[in-house]
Amino acid sequence: MPLEDLTTLMSGLGQKLYRARQLHEALYRQRITSLSQATVLPQTLRDALAAGGYVIGLPEIVQTARSVDGTERYLIRMADGETVETVWMPDGDGGERGDGSQAAEEEEKEDALLTTGSPAAAAPYRRSTICVSSQVGCAVNCQFCLTAKLGIRRNLTPGEIAGQVSVVLNRHQVELGSSRGNPTPARINLVFMGMGEPFLNYPNFTAAVRLLTQMPIPESRMTVSTSGILPGILDFAKETVRPKLAVSLNASNDTIRESIMPITRKWNIAALLEALRTIPLRNREWITFEYVLLGGINDSLAHADELIALVKDKEKGVPCKINLIVWNSGPNMPYHEPSRAEALAFQNRIIAAGVPCYIRRPRGRDIYAACGQLKRTVETAPAPLIAIAPAEAHAS
Ligand code: SAH
Ligand code: SF4
Repeated sequence: MPLEDLTTLMSGLGQKLYRARQLHEALYRQRITSLSQATVLPQTLRDALAAGGYVIGLPEIVQTARSVDGTERYLIRMADGETVETVWMPDGDGGERGDGSQAAEEEEKEDALLTTGSPAAAAPYRRSTICVSSQVGCAVNCQFCLTAKLGIRRNLTPGEIAGQVSVVLNRHQVELGSSRGNPTPARINLVFMGMGEPFLNYPNFTAAVRLLTQMPIPESRMTVSTSGILPGILDFAKETVRPKLAVSLNASNDTIRESIMPITRKWNIAALLEALRTIPLRNREWITFEYVLLGGINDSLAHADELIALVKDKEKGVPCKINLIVWNSGPNMPYHEPSRAEALAFQNRIIAAGVPCYIRRPRGRDIYAACGQLKRTVETAPAPLIAIAPAEAHAS
């Protein structure tokens, strides 16, 4: 519930309005996990809330897979038993680097200074990234994506989207903001790049963004990724509280894109670019195009040239950077990942054309980090393929 709803609730209970602010603070700043922890409220009020059927709670981590690179992948269970995946990347995900924002550049300079000292001790979680899910499964059916194989089960609520972040921050005892006398608040980046298509759950996604800004995580530290849901992009262009936008382009022409992302039949690349041009980009902001490199399918230098022509087109292009993601393999999928040399050649071709281009650092390969893989592994294989430790066994 946002503050406005809490205010309505409290006035309905005949309470003073400051009670709404107190509860809001407890929910989103202190990240309490039960009504009994809302000790700022008198017992009589807590009893009244319980009697009214109000519940405070967070989703629950039911499986944890920890990578040698520090990445942790969680299977998180909602109140109705549905599960989604959430990922913790302790030193950023590489995705936010080079995004051109002032903040990122300044932080990179600070990090460079810190790493000459004792980085771990000086800044344990300086710039972690949390990757959250927006739906249980996904309806978009991209051929290279494991989440697609699950189909769509349901939308997540705003509380379930923001709750993933709370539960992971609680696990790592991360203090945001300076409300608890914390002189060096952690800088947490969020990427809406887990399971699901955020723009097919648009109202809940935007409501979650507003809750998350209360924690506080500024929207400038959030990036939402869409497969290119056109109406969502047009709505997004009008938002005042707006994360950064990443678009899964994944191909340099409609024919290839259609073969790997059937949604291209509904909205082709030209329509996508046209919609993206309606977004009023802020100073030093640009669109990120994600491009999953699928060996032999979209990764040749000719494809790189076609991609360059597309984004640099004076009339149809958009200011952008390109994030290359080497395909994370999954079972029974007719793709292979390109070699390191092939990925580098693709990247260099794009950089040589003057378009910023990064290869996303692969995270958690050893824990089968491809989107949707943990859920599938847990749900379909009785003998786990991966070392799964209970959440509480981990000591950071
Ligand atoms: N539904 C949204 C956000 C979640 S997917 C979207 O598609 O943009 C986040 C990113 O992961 C997308 O860019 C998608 O193309 C990429 N992706 C999906 N499966 C992958 C895989 N097996 N290996 C590498 N990247 C993958
Ligand atoms: Fe859905 Fe994104 Fe996977 Fe496509 S890549 S199926 S949109 S989660």
